[in-house]
Parts: sequence; structure tokens; C-alpha cells
Amino acid sequence: MTFSQDDFRDSALVKTALDELKRITTRPWVIMEICGGQTHAIMQYGLDQLLPPSLELVHGPGCPVCVTPLELVDKAIAIAYHPDVIFCSFGDMLRVPGSNEDLFSVRAKGGQVRVVYSPLDAIQTAKDNPKKEVVFFAIGFETTAPVNAASVLQAENLGLNNYSVLVSQVCVPPAMEAILSSPLNRVQGFLAAGHVCSVMGYWEYLPLAEKYKIPIVVTGFEPLDLVSGILQTVRQLEKATYIVENAYSRVVTQLGNRSALTMINKVYIPVDRNWRGIGMIPLSGWGLRPEYAKFDAELRFDTSGIQVMESKICIAGEILQGIKKPFECPAFRVDCDPSRPLGAPMVSSEGACSAYYRYSSEGSN
Ligand code: SF4
Repeated sequence: MTFSQDDFRDSALVKTALDELKRITTRPWVIMEICGGQTHAIMQYGLDQLLPPSLELVHGPGCPVCVTPLELVDKAIAIAYHPDVIFCSFGDMLRVPGSNEDLFSVRAKGGQVRVVYSPLDAIQTAKDNPKKEVVFFAIGFETTAPVNAASVLQAENLGLNNYSVLVSQVCVPPAMEAILSSPLNRVQGFLAAGHVCSVMGYWEYLPLAEKYKIPIVVTGFEPLDLVSGILQTVRQLEKATYIVENAYSRVVTQLGNRSALTMINKVYIPVDRNWRGIGMIPLSGWGLRPEYAKFDAELRFDTSGIQVMESKICIAGEILQGIKKPFECPAFRVDCDPSRPLGAPMVSSEGACSAYYRYSSEGSN
């Protein structure tokens, strides 16, 4: 059967899949959707309310803004204060709290902080401002890595000596392994993030499914995608099978996008990365290859001596690992809301706390 794009929002098709899900579910299961975009779609369409009561969805670490470590946010703030710097960033990062302030407050105090929609906008800014240092905050998962890498290659091709990147690139599979190997783990099945897999393919998940005996289903973002991904995961759980399935085959192939992977591998090497709220995960991200070190903002600017100070209240780390839900945070809707965020998951358009704030009544008085 061939579906049109509209079919993936067709309520009758979604209901049919939900009915089948109810028919086959015999036990409680905990399933994690990795991606914050999936979390927002689930909450926006109220899909969590339509599932069999014994199915629990928990929300994963796939929010790039949420997992960018505090130390790098503080470094970004320190660099942005430099009088010769134009600091370029995706908009969500401006309101992420650092230890003492955020990038918005740097801008309010006269720092040149600009919102860009692509690192290629930052390249243009560097071309237009040859007497300024232009720094791009290169955050994100595998999805942003190709275009962020392309900006470094473009800067080199153009001979731009005033462009650098503050890199916080992270990768999903090592984070999934960190969650699965934690003694606190509750996750029994994963919805893998479709857009990450559109770049990387899904071959990386095969050893994870086998080692941890867990179903992993590559899943898209529309209501029918999400319910189908959950249905395929539950089918496996009920039958005790543990393989990787692709429920987003209109976009994802097993081996991924070859030209995007070539770009990533040319510019980046795997490195250990610190995930905000979770901690250091070995080889869980990318850093610049030594031949591109001249574009590394951490080497270009002295950011040593930064002392980070995490909020004592925010439980984002537990939420990002599926251990708790946003409404279990004592600050949710009380001291923390989108106008006064205490943590990144309340800021980001992909954060679980902002999804619950916008679409759920849980945690309301
Ligand atoms: S509600 Fe606010 S303080 Fe609580 S976990 Fe979410 S972002 Fe952190």
C-alpha cells in the first residue's frame, strides 16, 4: 500500500493503527522516543492519551539545545562578550541559562550576538565583516553535522581567517547505550529518530538491539509515523523479538546519505562529549580534525578558568534519560516556565518540559 504525505495525518488511518495497538498489547511496556521533535508531535496531537493505558512513553535526550553542556554555554557567553566578536547561533540557544546568565543578556549588554538559521549565514557574516571575528555555535546531532562541517570547508575554500566554530556535535547511538547500561534504566524499546537516520542510516543500531535485546524502530514525525513506530515496537516486545526495523522507509535507508557522511568524515573525528545533565559519554560526539584546528573557537579564544554552576533544582538529566517526567520536577510551572526557564528543556522547541508546558495539563493546579 502506498501512502501520500497527507495520509500520515489521516485520523482514520491513525485510529486503525491505535485499535491494532490496543488489540496486541497485553502487558505494561516502557518505550522511549529519542527525538525532542517526536516528543512535541506526540504531545501536540495528544497521542500519549490515546495509547493503551499500560504503555508508557518516556522522552529521550534528542534535544540538541538541552544536551549542550553548561561549560560550552559559558564558553559561548565568554566569547560573545569579546568586543571584536560577532557571535552567531541558532535562536533557541540564546535563552539557555548558563551558570550566571544567557546569550540574550550578553546581547542586552552590548555584545554582538546574532541569530542565524544556518552556519552558511555565519559565513556570509564573516565575509561582510572582515575586521571582526565571527564565531558560530555549532551544536546539534547528526542532522546538523553535515551543514556545520560544510561551513568549515567553505571558510577554508574562501580563505576566511575570521571564521571559527564552537563545536558541540553529539551522536545518538552512544547516548542510547549509556541509557541502556544505566542501573536506573526503564526503557524496553526505542523509537529511533527518523531525521538522524536519514543522514546516518540505521546500521549503527543493529549491535545495540542485539546486545541489549531491545527493539529499535526508526520512526518519523507525523501521527501515523509515530503510532506505526510504537505498534511495531510493541509487536516485537510482545513476541520477544529484538531487531531494528525501519518504519520511515520513505526517507531512511540502512546506509544513510553518502554525501552527508563524506562531509562529516572529512571535517570531524569522534571524541568524548559531555552531555548536560547526563555526563561524559565516551566517543559520543565529534570534534574538528587536527587539519581544521585553525577554525576551532576553543583554541582561538582563551576560555580557560570557567567555573560552571548547574541549577540545583533542575532535574533535566533524569528527564532526558527517561527516569522522570517534566511534571515530576518541583519547579515545573512553579519556578520554571518558558518566560523564566531554569533549564534548557523548558527553553528549546524540542525540550520535553516545554512540550508538557504547551500541550499537557499534567502538573497544573
Ligand atoms: S521544569 Fe525547568 S527546572 Fe524542571 S527539569 Fe524542566 S527545565 Fe529543569
